[in-house]
Amino acid sequence: MILHFRPGTAEEQVQAVREQCHANGIRTRLSPEAERPILAMVDKVPDALAQEIQQRPEVVDSFVPKGAWRLVHRAFREKPSVVKVGPVRLGGGQVVAIAGPCSVEGREVMLEVAHLVRDAGAQILRGGAYKPRTSPYSFQGFGVEGLSQLKDAGQAVNLPVVSEIMDAAALPAFVDHDIDCLQIGARNMQNFTLLKAVAQAGKPVLLKRGLAATVDEWLYSAEYLAAYGCPWVILCERGIRTFESATRNTLDLTILPLLREWTHLPVVVDPSHAAGIARLIPPLARASVAAGADGIAVEVHPRPEEARSDGAQALLPGELTALVAEARIQAAVTGRTFHQPVG
Ligand code: PEP
Ligand code: MN
Repeated sequence: MILHFRPGTAEEQVQAVREQCHANGIRTRLSPEAERPILAMVDKVPDALAQEIQQRPEVVDSFVPKGAWRLVHRAFREKPSVVKVGPVRLGGGQVVAIAGPCSVEGREVMLEVAHLVRDAGAQILRGGAYKPRTSPYSFQGFGVEGLSQLKDAGQAVNLPVVSEIMDAAALPAFVDHDIDCLQIGARNMQNFTLLKAVAQAGKPVLLKRGLAATVDEWLYSAEYLAAYGCPWVILCERGIRTFESATRNTLDLTILPLLREWTHLPVVVDPSHAAGIARLIPPLARASVAAGADGIAVEVHPRPEEARSDGAQALLPGELTALVAEARIQAAVTGRTFHQPVG
């Protein structure tokens, strides 16, 4: 159950409700919202106690979440939450572009991509140093050296960086290299041990939807992050596995307006891993922003034929520039603005 208190409710009154819950073995969490106290009961509240609390005059609204997620539930915040990645704000009514190569492939090429990403008008640089590859014989990423190349390239153009973490043992390396945002990949969305560890890093997390995860399961994973210390979660729809084999995955835009109702978290869409085919990405990116996404995440490479992973879905530099220009238009059409340049 989530309670909304009347604005201006005294702290002692909120505390009294919390103590009543705690005495009954029910854990509570207070929303970081400043506007008014919002309290989430983590555990199920017995009917009699729920009624008693709901009748208090300072309690103006109560919500019983459909799922067992609480902290990521829409009602836990007065407004949709804003997650900061370096100076970039996701979820504040501005549309953001995240772009970069699938894999970090070397110092020079990373720097080349960083410049083209910044020049195209994107605000966050991506690149994988630890790659989740289907085949053990495929390029696995440069590991720590890749993190260093990514961060240096980001600093050279003044863009914050995001990179995938696959193993909690690599967390100190991500922290040491000051990777601005940690990505949990689709294959690890339900790696709960990893979620718990990453939640404690004090960094925002880009949580990709699992290959066959329902929205419920996805939000439970986001709840894991929030419950274990990371309220700064950005959801990323990247296509799901369906019967359709014409494309790599099926981009599920249906859930965008639904997520707006169910959670306060910002949502970005990755049409690259959904389509798997570069020429399909621009219309899917347009559709994503038009459907309300807070951002798009795409892969780009100056020479896709040389890419060490996912070359078939890599945009060319000019295509990225055009895509960002279109995102700017789509943002305006939907009453928002494209995030100001940060590089
Ligand atoms: C990636 O972003 O490079 C990636 C591997 O994505 P996903 O986890 O969505 O497949
Ligand atoms: Mn990729």
